[in-house]
Amino acid sequence: MKHKKHSYGGEFHHKHSLGQNFIEDETLLEQLADLSLVTKDDCVLEIGPGFGALTKPLARRAKQVVSLEIDETLFPILNVALERFDNAHVVQGDVMKTDLHALAEASFGEGCSLRVAANLPYYITTDVLTKLLMTLPEAKSIAVMIQKEVGDKLLSQPGDEGYGPLAIMCQYFCEVRRALDVPAACFTPPPKVDSSFMVLERRKDKPYAVADEALLMRLIRGAFAMRRKTLINNLIACFPMDRLQAAAAMEAAGLDAQCRAEALSIGQLCSLCEQIGRLLPAI
Ligand code: SAM
Repeated sequence: MKHKKHSYGGEFHHKHSLGQNFIEDETLLEQLADLSLVTKDDCVLEIGPGFGALTKPLARRAKQVVSLEIDETLFPILNVALERFDNAHVVQGDVMKTDLHALAEASFGEGCSLRVAANLPYYITTDVLTKLLMTLPEAKSIAVMIQKEVGDKLLSQPGDEGYGPLAIMCQYFCEVRRALDVPAACFTPPPKVDSSFMVLERRKDKPYAVADEALLMRLIRGAFAMRRKTLINNLIACFPMDRLQAAAAMEAAGLDAQCRAEALSIGQLCSLCEQIGRLLPAI
């Protein structure tokens, strides 16, 4: 726990357990808000406003901002920081326990142009990204500060070390790019790792759409569940099918019987998903 005298008076105790590594550099914060693609037409859901440092440049660009913060002790500071921003509101809650779709709809109304922006708490990066992708399809973009090596993972390709369910999920739903690398020294207190600001833009037309996206997510998780095993063994373990049925689905998808999930492109996984979907009702 680090103690810091913040500009609103008093002492704030940074909670390492909540990933409280804040950004104070105004130039960097303006740059991050620009990279978040937010315009006057957009409503922004921010996760973890901290002292409101990123909330302010977001609010200057957006129609409206709602920031979800778990730590109640930040609220007196946030109230002062944001008092001049009529279009910025802070809601207390845990992002992992909050219905984000309901929050966005209650805050901004139905059919708003929604974007997500955040300097994420790193201890829940994967869970938050998964939740945003799966439960907030209306978000046009997700701009997030994450650990640099998780950023590498998001961009990884078949055969790369980090290639797995998170990369596939992100790349299936979104166009993913690294907008900026941010060294650890830019945060207070500095974390042990460098960071990247990643921008995920929701695809309007997916190159490999499948009929049943929930089945694709189940397949992706199952296919990578035991990395040392071949795909066929993972399929048998995660779906109610025997070896012959799994082999038939793989063959129909044009896959080698001995292949491993880590070698498969998203297109190949989508083909396999369609074949399993055809098979499953019969099993
Ligand atoms: N946005 C600020 C900045 O850039 O300086 C703070 C970013 S800090 C990396 C992460 C923020 O997320 C903290 O304010 C922390 O309290 C908050 N947070 C941590 N866990 C959370 C959770 N489960 N739900 C909502 N907010 C959370």
